[in-house]
Amino acid sequence: MAFEGLTERLQNAMTKLRRKPTVSEADLRETMREIRLALLEADVNFKVVKDFVKQVQTRAIGADVLKGLNPAQQIVKIVNEELTTTMGTEAVPLNKSEKIPTIIMMAGLQGAGKTTTAGKLALKLKNEENARPMFIAADVYRPAAIDQLEQVAKSIDVPVFQLGTDVDPVEIVRQGLEQAQEQHNDYVIIDTAGRLQIDEKLMDELVNISNLAKPDEILLVVDAMTGQNAVETADGFNDKLELTGVILTKLDGDTRGGAALSIRAVTGKPIKFVGQGEKMTDLDVFHPDRMASRILGMGDMLTLIEKAQQDYDEDQAQKTMEKMRENSFDFNDFLDQMEQVQKMGPLEDVMKMIPGMANNPAMKNVNVNPKDMDHIKAIVYSMTPAERENPDVLNPSRRRRLAGGAGRPIVEVNRMIKQFGEMKKMMKQVSSGNMNGMEQMMGG
Ligand code: GDP
Repeated sequence: MAFEGLTERLQNAMTKLRRKPTVSEADLRETMREIRLALLEADVNFKVVKDFVKQVQTRAIGADVLKGLNPAQQIVKIVNEELTTTMGTEAVPLNKSEKIPTIIMMAGLQGAGKTTTAGKLALKLKNEENARPMFIAADVYRPAAIDQLEQVAKSIDVPVFQLGTDVDPVEIVRQGLEQAQEQHNDYVIIDTAGRLQIDEKLMDELVNISNLAKPDEILLVVDAMTGQNAVETADGFNDKLELTGVILTKLDGDTRGGAALSIRAVTGKPIKFVGQGEKMTDLDVFHPDRMASRILGMGDMLTLIEKAQQDYDEDQAQKTMEKMRENSFDFNDFLDQMEQVQKMGPLEDVMKMIPGMANNPAMKNVNVNPKDMDHIKAIVYSMTPAERENPDVLNPSRRRRLAGGAGRPIVEVNRMIKQFGEMKKMMKQVSSGNMNGMEQMMGG
Protein backbone atom coordinates (compact mmCIF):
# COMPACT_ATOMS: atom_id res chain seq x y z
CA MET A 1 0.00 0.00 0.00
CA ALA A 2 1.33 3.44 -0.95
CA PHE A 3 2.87 5.73 1.68
CA GLU A 4 2.58 3.19 4.47
CA GLY A 5 5.93 3.94 6.13
CA LEU A 6 5.63 7.68 5.68
CA THR A 7 2.14 7.78 7.13
CA GLU A 8 3.18 5.75 10.12
CA ARG A 9 6.18 7.93 10.89
CA LEU A 10 4.32 11.20 10.44
CA GLN A 11 1.54 9.96 12.67
CA ASN A 12 3.98 8.87 15.34
CA ALA A 13 5.60 12.31 15.32
CA MET A 14 2.21 13.99 15.63
CA THR A 15 0.97 11.64 18.31
CA LYS A 16 4.02 12.32 20.44
CA LEU A 17 3.41 16.03 20.10
CA ARG A 18 -0.27 15.72 20.94
CA ARG A 19 0.51 13.94 24.19
CA LYS A 20 2.46 16.91 25.54
CA PRO A 21 0.52 19.31 27.77
CA THR A 22 2.43 22.28 26.35
CA VAL A 23 4.65 22.55 23.30
CA SER A 24 7.97 24.38 23.52
CA GLU A 25 10.08 25.57 20.63
CA ALA A 26 12.42 22.66 21.33
CA ASP A 27 9.47 20.24 21.04
CA LEU A 28 8.56 21.79 17.72
CA ARG A 29 12.13 21.43 16.50
CA GLU A 30 12.19 17.80 17.58
CA THR A 31 8.92 17.10 15.75
CA MET A 32 10.22 18.82 12.63
CA ARG A 33 13.37 16.73 12.82
CA GLU A 34 11.26 13.58 12.86
CA ILE A 35 9.15 14.83 9.97
CA ARG A 36 12.28 15.69 8.01
CA LEU A 37 13.67 12.19 8.49
CA ALA A 38 10.33 10.61 7.59
CA LEU A 39 10.17 12.59 4.35
CA LEU A 40 13.77 11.84 3.41
CA GLU A 41 13.23 8.18 4.08
CA ALA A 42 10.17 8.29 1.83
CA ASP A 43 12.54 9.44 -0.92
CA VAL A 44 11.26 13.00 -1.10
CA ASN A 45 13.71 15.36 -2.81
CA PHE A 46 16.03 16.86 -0.17
CA LYS A 47 15.46 20.44 -1.27
CA VAL A 48 11.72 19.96 -1.17
CA VAL A 49 12.07 18.59 2.35
CA LYS A 50 14.21 21.49 3.44
CA ASP A 51 11.78 24.10 2.11
CA PHE A 52 8.83 22.25 3.58
CA VAL A 53 10.32 22.01 7.08
CA LYS A 54 11.37 25.63 7.03
CA GLN A 55 7.94 26.77 5.92
CA VAL A 56 6.11 24.79 8.63
CA GLN A 57 8.50 26.02 11.30
CA THR A 58 8.23 29.65 10.24
CA ARG A 59 4.47 29.53 10.17
CA ALA A 60 4.19 27.76 13.51
CA ILE A 61 6.47 30.21 15.26
CA GLY A 62 5.20 33.27 13.41
CA ALA A 63 1.58 32.58 14.22
CA ASP A 64 2.35 32.13 17.90
CA VAL A 65 0.86 28.69 17.67
CA LEU A 66 2.86 27.48 20.62
CA LYS A 67 1.20 29.90 23.04
CA GLY A 68 -2.30 29.33 21.70
CA LEU A 69 -4.87 26.65 22.39
CA ASN A 70 -4.17 23.18 21.10
CA PRO A 71 -0.72 23.85 19.68
CA ALA A 72 -0.30 20.23 18.51
CA GLN A 73 -3.52 20.35 16.55
CA GLN A 74 -2.53 23.65 14.97
CA ILE A 75 0.77 22.15 13.91
CA VAL A 76 -0.95 19.15 12.34
CA LYS A 77 -3.12 21.61 10.45
CA ILE A 78 -0.11 23.54 9.21
CA VAL A 79 1.66 20.33 8.16
CA ASN A 80 -1.43 19.26 6.27
CA GLU A 81 -1.72 22.62 4.52
CA GLU A 82 1.94 22.74 3.60
CA LEU A 83 1.87 19.18 2.24
CA THR A 84 -1.06 20.27 0.10
CA THR A 85 0.81 23.35 -1.13
CA THR A 86 3.90 21.29 -1.93
CA MET A 87 1.79 19.10 -4.18
CA GLY A 88 0.13 22.04 -5.88
CA THR A 89 -2.81 23.32 -3.80
CA GLU A 90 -5.64 22.54 -6.22
CA ALA A 91 -6.57 19.98 -8.84
CA VAL A 92 -5.64 21.28 -12.29
CA PRO A 93 -8.09 20.35 -15.05
CA LEU A 94 -7.16 19.30 -18.58
CA ASN A 95 -6.47 22.12 -21.03
CA LYS A 96 -9.09 22.17 -23.75
CA SER A 97 -8.84 23.62 -27.20
CA GLU A 98 -11.48 26.13 -28.35
CA LYS A 99 -11.93 24.20 -31.54
CA ILE A 100 -11.87 20.43 -31.93
CA PRO A 101 -9.87 18.37 -31.62
CA THR A 102 -8.15 18.95 -28.32
CA ILE A 103 -4.73 17.39 -28.82
CA ILE A 104 -3.12 15.44 -26.00
CA MET A 105 0.39 14.15 -26.41
CA MET A 106 1.55 11.40 -24.05
CA ALA A 107 5.22 11.03 -23.26
CA GLY A 108 7.16 8.83 -20.88
CA LEU A 109 9.80 6.18 -20.46
CA GLN A 110 9.11 2.60 -21.44
CA GLY A 111 7.12 0.76 -18.81
CA ALA A 112 5.92 3.89 -17.02
CA GLY A 113 2.38 3.07 -18.08
CA LYS A 114 2.00 5.44 -21.03
CA THR A 115 -0.15 3.25 -23.27
CA THR A 116 -2.32 1.98 -20.44
CA THR A 117 -2.81 5.52 -19.19
CA ALA A 118 -3.67 6.79 -22.67
CA GLY A 119 -6.46 4.20 -22.64
CA LYS A 120 -7.64 5.18 -19.17
CA LEU A 121 -7.74 8.84 -20.15
CA ALA A 122 -9.72 8.14 -23.33
CA LEU A 123 -12.23 6.09 -21.34
CA LYS A 124 -12.56 8.86 -18.75
CA LEU A 125 -13.28 11.41 -21.51
CA LYS A 126 -15.82 9.07 -23.07
CA ASN A 127 -17.57 8.38 -19.79
CA GLU A 128 -17.52 11.87 -18.34
CA GLU A 129 -17.95 14.04 -21.42
CA ASN A 130 -19.45 11.68 -23.93
CA ALA A 131 -16.37 12.50 -25.99
CA ARG A 132 -15.24 10.76 -29.19
CA PRO A 133 -11.48 10.41 -28.79
CA MET A 134 -9.07 8.94 -31.31
CA PHE A 135 -5.56 7.58 -30.77
CA ILE A 136 -2.56 8.14 -32.99
CA ALA A 137 0.06 5.37 -32.78
CA ALA A 138 3.36 7.23 -33.09
CA ASP A 139 5.68 4.66 -31.51
CA VAL A 140 7.27 3.10 -34.57
CA TYR A 141 10.20 1.39 -32.87
CA ARG A 142 8.41 -1.56 -31.39
CA PRO A 143 5.69 -3.29 -33.43
CA ALA A 144 4.42 -4.62 -30.10
CA ALA A 145 3.73 -1.07 -28.98
CA ILE A 146 1.20 -0.54 -31.76
CA ASP A 147 -0.41 -3.91 -31.04
CA GLN A 148 -0.70 -2.99 -27.39
CA LEU A 149 -2.35 0.32 -28.19
CA GLU A 150 -4.73 -1.46 -30.59
CA GLN A 151 -5.68 -3.87 -27.83
CA VAL A 152 -6.25 -1.18 -25.25
CA ALA A 153 -8.25 0.84 -27.79
CA LYS A 154 -10.41 -2.12 -28.69
CA SER A 155 -11.27 -2.79 -25.08
CA ILE A 156 -12.71 0.70 -24.70
CA ASP A 157 -13.99 1.02 -28.26
CA VAL A 158 -11.82 3.93 -29.41
CA PRO A 159 -10.37 4.13 -32.97
CA VAL A 160 -6.62 4.07 -33.63
CA PHE A 161 -4.88 5.85 -36.51
CA GLN A 162 -1.70 3.99 -37.47
CA LEU A 163 0.60 3.61 -40.47
CA GLY A 164 2.69 0.73 -39.15
CA THR A 165 6.35 1.11 -38.29
CA ASP A 166 7.89 2.27 -41.59
CA VAL A 167 6.66 5.85 -41.65
CA ASP A 168 8.20 8.81 -39.84
CA PRO A 169 6.30 9.50 -36.59
CA VAL A 170 5.88 13.19 -37.42
CA GLU A 171 4.23 12.24 -40.70
CA ILE A 172 1.98 9.74 -38.92
CA VAL A 173 0.85 12.45 -36.54
CA ARG A 174 0.23 14.88 -39.42
CA GLN A 175 -1.98 12.42 -41.25
CA GLY A 176 -3.66 11.31 -38.06
CA LEU A 177 -4.65 14.85 -37.18
CA GLU A 178 -6.09 15.32 -40.66
CA GLN A 179 -8.22 12.26 -40.26
CA ALA A 180 -9.40 13.35 -36.80
CA GLN A 181 -10.49 16.65 -38.27
CA GLU A 182 -12.39 14.96 -41.09
CA GLN A 183 -14.08 12.62 -38.69
CA HIS A 184 -14.81 15.28 -36.07
CA ASN A 185 -13.11 13.56 -33.18
CA ASP A 186 -13.11 15.93 -30.24
CA TYR A 187 -9.91 14.55 -28.67
CA VAL A 188 -6.77 13.12 -30.19
CA ILE A 189 -4.40 11.24 -27.93
CA ILE A 190 -0.94 10.71 -29.37
CA ASP A 191 0.95 7.70 -28.00
CA THR A 192 4.64 8.39 -28.51
CA ALA A 193 7.69 6.17 -28.26
CA GLY A 194 9.30 5.40 -24.93
CA ARG A 195 12.87 4.44 -24.21
CA LEU A 196 14.49 2.91 -21.19
CA GLN A 197 16.08 6.24 -20.45
CA ILE A 198 16.07 9.75 -21.82
CA ASP A 199 18.14 10.06 -24.98
CA GLU A 200 18.65 12.89 -27.40
CA LYS A 201 17.16 11.23 -30.44
CA LEU A 202 13.94 10.49 -28.59
CA MET A 203 13.75 14.04 -27.30
CA ASP A 204 14.30 15.48 -30.78
CA GLU A 205 11.53 13.33 -32.13
CA LEU A 206 9.13 14.37 -29.37
CA VAL A 207 9.99 18.03 -29.95
CA ASN A 208 9.31 17.60 -33.67
CA ILE A 209 5.96 15.97 -33.02
CA SER A 210 5.11 18.69 -30.56
CA ASN A 211 6.10 21.45 -33.02
CA LEU A 212 3.84 19.98 -35.64
CA ALA A 213 0.86 19.02 -33.49
CA LYS A 214 0.95 22.03 -31.13
CA PRO A 215 -0.72 19.94 -28.41
CA ASP A 216 -3.03 21.49 -25.83
CA GLU A 217 -1.59 19.04 -23.35
CA ILE A 218 1.78 17.34 -23.17
CA LEU A 219 1.36 14.87 -20.35
CA LEU A 220 4.34 13.03 -18.98
CA VAL A 221 3.56 9.62 -17.54
CA VAL A 222 5.89 8.58 -14.71
CA ASP A 223 5.97 5.56 -12.46
CA ALA A 224 5.53 6.49 -8.78
CA MET A 225 7.31 3.32 -7.70
CA THR A 226 10.59 4.68 -9.06
CA GLY A 227 10.70 7.51 -6.51
CA GLN A 228 13.45 10.05 -7.17
CA ASN A 229 14.06 8.57 -10.63
CA ALA A 230 10.54 9.62 -11.55
CA VAL A 231 11.38 13.14 -10.46
CA GLU A 232 14.62 13.19 -12.45
CA THR A 233 12.79 11.86 -15.50
CA ALA A 234 10.19 14.57 -15.18
CA ASP A 235 12.90 17.20 -14.84
CA GLY A 236 14.70 15.84 -17.92
CA PHE A 237 11.60 15.81 -20.13
CA ASN A 238 10.58 19.21 -18.84
CA ASP A 239 13.91 20.67 -19.99
CA LYS A 240 13.16 19.85 -23.61
CA LEU A 241 9.40 19.69 -23.89
CA GLU A 242 6.79 22.19 -22.75
CA LEU A 243 5.10 19.74 -20.40
CA THR A 244 1.65 20.83 -19.25
CA GLY A 245 1.25 18.18 -16.61
CA VAL A 246 2.30 14.89 -15.13
CA ILE A 247 0.41 11.64 -14.61
CA LEU A 248 1.72 9.54 -11.78
CA THR A 249 1.05 5.81 -12.22
CA LYS A 250 1.14 2.80 -9.90
CA LEU A 251 0.09 4.70 -6.80
CA ASP A 252 -1.75 1.53 -5.85
CA GLY A 253 1.63 -0.12 -5.40
CA ASP A 254 4.12 0.01 -2.62
CA THR A 255 5.40 3.52 -3.33
CA ARG A 256 7.01 5.49 -0.54
CA GLY A 257 5.72 8.91 -1.54
CA GLY A 258 8.82 10.63 -2.90
CA ALA A 259 7.52 11.15 -6.42
CA ALA A 260 4.09 12.42 -5.43
CA LEU A 261 5.59 14.90 -3.00
CA SER A 262 8.51 16.15 -5.11
CA ILE A 263 7.42 16.39 -8.75
CA ARG A 264 5.39 19.55 -8.52
CA ALA A 265 7.96 21.39 -6.44
CA VAL A 266 10.92 20.30 -8.59
CA THR A 267 9.42 20.76 -12.07
CA GLY A 268 6.76 23.38 -11.39
CA LYS A 269 4.34 21.22 -13.38
CA PRO A 270 1.11 19.96 -11.85
CA ILE A 271 0.24 16.32 -11.35
CA LYS A 272 -3.08 16.12 -13.15
CA PHE A 273 -4.05 12.47 -12.72
CA VAL A 274 -2.94 9.43 -10.78
CA GLY A 275 -3.14 5.81 -11.90
CA GLN A 276 -4.20 3.51 -9.10
CA GLY A 277 -4.54 0.10 -10.70
CA GLU A 278 -4.32 -1.89 -13.88
CA LYS A 279 -7.97 -1.62 -14.90
CA MET A 280 -9.08 0.94 -17.48
CA THR A 281 -11.21 2.71 -14.85
CA ASP A 282 -8.30 3.18 -12.43
CA LEU A 283 -7.42 6.78 -13.22
CA ASP A 284 -8.32 9.55 -10.78
CA VAL A 285 -8.02 13.32 -10.83
CA PHE A 286 -5.16 14.34 -8.52
CA HIS A 287 -6.36 16.45 -5.60
CA PRO A 288 -3.38 17.73 -3.57
CA ASP A 289 -5.48 18.29 -0.44
CA ARG A 290 -6.92 14.80 -0.49
CA MET A 291 -3.49 13.31 -1.13
CA ALA A 292 -2.10 15.24 1.84
CA SER A 293 -4.84 13.85 4.09
CA ARG A 294 -4.15 10.38 2.78
CA ILE A 295 -0.42 10.72 3.46
CA LEU A 296 -1.16 11.94 6.98
CA GLY A 297 -3.39 8.90 7.51
CA MET A 298 -6.41 11.12 7.83
CA GLY A 299 -8.16 9.12 5.15
CA ASP A 300 -9.47 10.10 1.83
CA MET A 301 -13.20 10.00 2.31
CA LEU A 302 -13.96 12.21 -0.67
CA THR A 303 -12.28 9.89 -3.15
CA LEU A 304 -13.92 6.95 -1.45
CA ILE A 305 -17.34 8.55 -1.79
CA GLU A 306 -16.69 9.45 -5.42
CA LYS A 307 -15.57 5.93 -6.12
CA ALA A 308 -18.69 4.59 -4.51
CA GLN A 309 -20.86 6.93 -6.54
CA GLN A 310 -19.08 6.09 -9.75
CA ASP A 311 -19.33 2.37 -9.26
CA TYR A 312 -22.67 2.39 -7.59
CA ASP A 313 -25.94 2.08 -9.28
CA GLU A 314 -28.13 4.72 -7.66
CA ASP A 315 -31.45 2.92 -8.03
CA GLN A 316 -29.88 -0.07 -6.45
CA ALA A 317 -28.57 2.03 -3.56
CA GLN A 318 -32.02 3.51 -3.00
CA LYS A 319 -33.62 0.09 -2.97
CA THR A 320 -31.02 -1.17 -0.51
CA MET A 321 -31.64 1.74 1.85
CA GLU A 322 -35.37 1.04 1.81
CA LYS A 323 -34.78 -2.61 2.49
CA MET A 324 -32.50 -1.75 5.38
CA ARG A 325 -35.16 0.46 6.88
CA GLU A 326 -37.87 -2.15 6.46
CA ASN A 327 -35.54 -4.79 7.82
CA SER A 328 -36.21 -6.89 4.73
CA PHE A 329 -32.60 -7.00 3.53
CA ASP A 330 -32.07 -10.56 2.31
CA PHE A 331 -29.34 -12.70 0.78
CA ASN A 332 -30.11 -11.42 -2.74
CA ASP A 333 -29.34 -7.88 -1.57
CA PHE A 334 -26.30 -9.19 0.23
CA LEU A 335 -24.94 -10.66 -3.01
CA ASP A 336 -25.53 -7.36 -4.83
CA GLN A 337 -23.71 -5.50 -2.09
CA MET A 338 -20.73 -7.81 -2.21
CA GLU A 339 -20.47 -7.34 -5.93
CA GLN A 340 -20.66 -3.57 -5.58
CA VAL A 341 -17.92 -3.55 -2.98
CA GLN A 342 -15.71 -5.89 -4.99
CA LYS A 343 -15.99 -3.53 -7.96
CA MET A 344 -14.41 -0.78 -5.87
CA GLY A 345 -11.11 -2.62 -5.65
CA PRO A 346 -9.24 -4.67 -3.06
CA LEU A 347 -11.09 -4.31 0.21
CA GLU A 348 -7.97 -3.45 2.24
CA ASP A 349 -7.33 -0.47 -0.03
CA VAL A 350 -10.91 0.73 0.21
CA MET A 351 -10.84 0.44 3.99
CA LYS A 352 -7.60 2.38 4.27
CA MET A 353 -9.26 5.44 2.76
CA ILE A 354 -11.47 5.66 5.85
CA PRO A 355 -10.04 8.24 8.28
CA GLY A 356 -7.95 6.69 11.00
CA MET A 357 -7.92 3.30 9.33
CA ALA A 358 -4.63 3.48 7.44
CA ASN A 359 -2.64 3.52 10.61
CA ASN A 360 -5.02 1.57 12.79
CA PRO A 361 -3.10 -1.34 14.34
CA ALA A 362 -6.07 -3.56 13.55
CA MET A 363 -5.46 -2.95 9.83
CA LYS A 364 -2.06 -4.59 10.04
CA ASN A 365 -3.74 -7.95 10.23
CA VAL A 366 -6.50 -7.24 7.81
CA ASN A 367 -5.91 -9.24 4.78
CA VAL A 368 -9.19 -9.64 3.04
CA ASN A 369 -8.75 -12.61 0.86
CA PRO A 370 -10.79 -12.36 -2.35
CA LYS A 371 -11.20 -16.12 -1.98
CA ASP A 372 -13.14 -15.60 1.28
CA MET A 373 -15.57 -13.38 -0.58
CA ASP A 374 -15.91 -16.08 -3.24
CA HIS A 375 -16.58 -18.74 -0.60
CA ILE A 376 -19.32 -16.61 0.90
CA LYS A 377 -20.79 -16.09 -2.53
CA ALA A 378 -20.66 -19.82 -3.23
CA ILE A 379 -22.72 -20.46 -0.09
CA VAL A 380 -25.32 -17.89 -1.11
CA TYR A 381 -25.45 -19.32 -4.63
CA SER A 382 -26.30 -22.71 -3.13
CA MET A 383 -29.46 -21.32 -1.53
CA THR A 384 -32.86 -21.69 -3.13
CA PRO A 385 -34.64 -18.43 -4.02
CA ALA A 386 -36.95 -18.95 -1.05
CA GLU A 387 -33.99 -19.33 1.32
CA ARG A 388 -32.32 -16.22 -0.02
CA GLU A 389 -35.46 -14.19 0.56
CA ASN A 390 -36.16 -15.62 3.95
CA PRO A 391 -32.98 -16.67 5.75
CA ASP A 392 -35.02 -17.68 8.83
CA VAL A 393 -35.93 -20.99 7.19
CA LEU A 394 -32.28 -22.08 7.20
CA ASN A 395 -32.53 -24.97 9.65
CA PRO A 396 -29.64 -27.41 10.32
CA SER A 397 -30.52 -29.80 7.53
CA ARG A 398 -30.73 -27.00 4.99
CA ARG A 399 -27.41 -25.67 6.24
CA ARG A 400 -25.81 -29.06 5.71
CA ARG A 401 -27.11 -29.05 2.17
CA LEU A 402 -25.58 -25.60 1.60
CA ALA A 403 -22.23 -26.75 2.96
CA GLY A 404 -22.27 -29.67 0.55
CA GLY A 405 -23.37 -27.53 -2.38
CA ALA A 406 -20.73 -24.87 -1.82
CA GLY A 407 -18.03 -27.32 -0.81
CA ARG A 408 -17.40 -25.44 2.45
CA PRO A 409 -17.37 -26.75 6.05
CA ILE A 410 -20.62 -26.49 7.98
CA VAL A 411 -19.01 -24.20 10.63
CA GLU A 412 -18.30 -21.69 7.89
CA VAL A 413 -21.92 -21.78 6.74
CA ASN A 414 -23.11 -21.26 10.32
CA ARG A 415 -20.69 -18.41 10.90
CA MET A 416 -21.72 -16.68 7.69
CA ILE A 417 -25.42 -16.88 8.52
CA LYS A 418 -24.78 -15.62 12.04
CA GLN A 419 -22.75 -12.68 10.73
CA PHE A 420 -25.46 -11.90 8.24
CA GLY A 421 -27.97 -11.70 11.10
CA GLU A 422 -25.71 -9.34 13.03
CA MET A 423 -25.12 -7.17 10.01
CA LYS A 424 -28.85 -6.92 9.47
CA LYS A 425 -29.34 -5.79 13.06
CA MET A 426 -26.68 -3.12 12.66
CA MET A 427 -28.18 -1.92 9.40
CA LYS A 428 -31.51 -1.48 11.05
CA GLN A 429 -29.94 0.63 13.80
CA VAL A 430 -28.00 2.77 11.37
CA SER A 431 -30.90 3.33 9.00
CA SER A 432 -33.26 4.21 11.84
CA GLY A 433 -30.96 7.03 12.87
CA ASN A 434 -29.04 5.38 15.66
CA MET A 435 -25.54 6.22 14.52
CA ASN A 436 -23.67 5.16 17.63
CA GLY A 437 -22.48 1.98 16.04
CA MET A 438 -21.10 3.85 13.07
CA GLU A 439 -19.39 6.47 15.17
CA GLN A 440 -17.70 3.84 17.22
CA MET A 441 -16.52 2.15 14.07
CA MET A 442 -15.00 5.40 12.85
CA GLY A 443 -13.28 5.99 16.16
CA GLY A 444 -15.34 9.17 16.72
P1 GDP B 1 4.39 2.00 -21.46
O1 GDP B 1 5.58 1.20 -21.88
O2 GDP B 1 4.77 3.27 -20.80
O3 GDP B 1 3.38 2.19 -22.55
O4 GDP B 1 3.71 1.18 -20.29
P2 GDP B 1 2.44 0.23 -20.29
O5 GDP B 1 1.21 1.01 -20.53
O6 GDP B 1 2.70 -0.93 -21.16
O7 GDP B 1 2.42 -0.22 -18.75
C1 GDP B 1 3.44 -1.00 -18.17
C2 GDP B 1 2.84 -1.89 -17.08
O8 GDP B 1 2.41 -1.08 -15.98
C3 GDP B 1 1.63 -2.64 -17.54
O9 GDP B 1 1.72 -3.96 -17.02
C4 GDP B 1 0.46 -1.91 -16.91
O10 GDP B 1 -0.64 -2.76 -16.66
C5 GDP B 1 1.09 -1.41 -15.64
N1 GDP B 1 0.41 -0.19 -15.12
C6 GDP B 1 0.20 0.98 -15.74
N2 GDP B 1 -0.41 1.86 -14.92
C7 GDP B 1 -0.59 1.24 -13.73
C8 GDP B 1 -1.16 1.62 -12.45
O11 GDP B 1 -1.62 2.74 -12.22
N3 GDP B 1 -1.15 0.67 -11.48
C9 GDP B 1 -0.64 -0.59 -11.69
N4 GDP B 1 -0.67 -1.45 -10.67
N5 GDP B 1 -0.09 -0.97 -12.85
C10 GDP B 1 -0.08 -0.08 -13.86
